[in-house]
Amino acid sequence: MSGQPYPIAVIPGDGIGPEVVEAELLVLAASGVDFTFSEHPAGDAELARSGAALPAATLAAAKAAQAVVFGAAGATAKDVILRLRAELATNVNLRPAKAYAGAPCLRPETDLIVVRENSEGLYVGREELVEPGMATATRLITDRASFAIARYALQYAADNGYNKVTAVHKVNVLQITDQVFLDACRRAAAEFPQLSYEEALVDSVAMRMVLRPSDFQVMVTTNLFGDILSDLAAGLIGGLGLCPSANLGPQHALFEPVHGSAPDIAGQGRANPAAAILCGAMLLRHLGHRDEAARVEAALTACLAAGQTTPDLGGRLSTMDMARAVTQRIEARAGAPRSGPGGGAKHPKA
Ligand code: ATP
Repeated sequence: MSGQPYPIAVIPGDGIGPEVVEAELLVLAASGVDFTFSEHPAGDAELARSGAALPAATLAAAKAAQAVVFGAAGATAKDVILRLRAELATNVNLRPAKAYAGAPCLRPETDLIVVRENSEGLYVGREELVEPGMATATRLITDRASFAIARYALQYAADNGYNKVTAVHKVNVLQITDQVFLDACRRAAAEFPQLSYEEALVDSVAMRMVLRPSDFQVMVTTNLFGDILSDLAAGLIGGLGLCPSANLGPQHALFEPVHGSAPDIAGQGRANPAAAILCGAMLLRHLGHRDEAARVEAALTACLAAGQTTPDLGGRLSTMDMARAVTQRIEARAGAPRSGPGGGAKHPKA
């Protein structure tokens, strides 16, 4: 398929999902890379309409596409996004958290990435009500999945100019499961002697992230700890509106903002599209278009620094006005406006 546009399945979802996805697609179209976007329904509204939160046709389209751009899931999140992550076998969840000049935040020095195991841990859905008032949950940790995520995190660090990886655990309490996790991390770390490898208890990590986020670069951890620490990181950098994420597996990739459907601001054009636009940059990088990804990030960074933002960051722009401000900066840097199929750089992979 050399020279063909990348086929991307777009699942806008609920609440502000459609608004931030529209902004993301506008920016991707201006990136200089060719895409064909096909839109597919899922979520609360789709459940009410058709009786299926994730219709079979949407799932099939997600599996057939080169990658999936996802907006937000509402009350049906478990049936939509958790199912998509599982069906697409995305074992890696990348959650970068970087502070931007111009975006008010608690810890402007924050620049870290949480590499979260995405397929097991407490998310395997094995809960049981043993008897009224007593319930259990199974925490599944395997050497195979732990080694895969640790190796991914270390390779990511090596490829992206980081020199330190922190494995986050709670082995003093979870003595069997987290020992499996740490043994796998140590084996993987031995393959990367050029990187500094550290292990730290999740509770102390939570405190150190608030006091000294610069202690951390790449953090690798199990599913639930990764979920919690990445929201903590979002709090350090000025909120959920700035946090993208990528779900990656051997066959599939799905990009989604960390934020949810934000029903309190949905439909008002006030949603910050930055997280979704940064998802677009992650998609570009995933496809091998590093320069285009860097251009999108630079344009967004310049907008944030200039106060061209939505109200949550103190700006006065609507969602789409902010997206247009980003595309104008991309096009100004590229020297000539362009977008859409046929006019851009072709992807390098056969
Ligand atoms: P859900 O039930 O779908 O998780 P929620 O409102 O409980 O929705 P989030 O969507 O993550 O959770 O939103 C939490 C808060 O952050 C809300 O007050 C919301 O308005 C705000 N928020 C989230 N995303 C954005 C965004 N992109 N721009 C501006 N504010 C946002």
